[in-house]
Amino acid sequence: MRVTSFGSGSNGNAFLVQAGSTALLIDAGVPIRLLHSGLRHAGVGDSRLTATFITHEHVDHVRAAAQLCRYQPVPFLATEGTIGELRHCRADWTRIRATVPVRVGEIDVTPVAVSHDAADPVGFVIEHDGVRVALFTDLGETTADVRSALSDASLIVLESNYDEHMLRSGPYPAHLKRRIRGPLGHLGNADCGELLAAHMGDRTTDVWLAHLSDKNNRPDIARASAEARLGGAALCPTITPVPRFGSSIVWDSEQAIVRPRQASLF
Ligand SMILES: [Zn+2]
Ligand SMILES: [Zn+2]
Repeated sequence: MRVTSFGSGSNGNAFLVQAGSTALLIDAGVPIRLLHSGLRHAGVGDSRLTATFITHEHVDHVRAAAQLCRYQPVPFLATEGTIGELRHCRADWTRIRATVPVRVGEIDVTPVAVSHDAADPVGFVIEHDGVRVALFTDLGETTADVRSALSDASLIVLESNYDEHMLRSGPYPAHLKRRIRGPLGHLGNADCGELLAAHMGDRTTDVWLAHLSDKNNRPDIARASAEARLGGAALCPTITPVPRFGSSIVWDSEQAIVRPRQASLF
């Protein structure tokens, strides 16, 4: 299985998941030009996208959805609440429900409900041939379903939105800071590290830190925070902040390896 990020954060989110002849887009939040060039670059021409899953209706996840349905009329899958918020997007909608897996081509996708200020938001567990990817980009707090979704994943894509100090001393108004920190907002670096340390399993080779804030976080700080928290883990995954905009990164299950933990200096 191959996962490609076309960007993650408030400027737009989109991930491509490929296995065999199946190509799934998870969110269509980056500008359509970037999405098209990313798909072409990944070998998915205009007619080769199998389906698009939408996590929730916030604009950074659906910015290009309406144009995508015009140019690549593939099935769109989302929860009932999300579809209700996106009626203006005349797509071929299929309803999905949290905890109910759907098979699209050669890939199984299980939506997992998340706590976020949208109508009916979900993250996804994506599986092909025994390889599992967990993808959670927008969530204010975790639930038992989210925690258990992480345990068998080879790649975990998990939100690491803000550094607590940068958020506290940053430019956002108080109500927005409260919203970000709140149970319907976003996971910070510390939350992300705690969650990984407590629930990541031995199969996890890679962690992508997703949805980093431009104003309240930095890739080096997010990575250092997760690495510090995971220093005691038996096996240390490779931790990579997902670029916010304009460049992509790729994970390939056939090249992923579990690395022994580096010797601690402390
Ligand atoms: Zn959101
Ligand atoms: Zn978002």
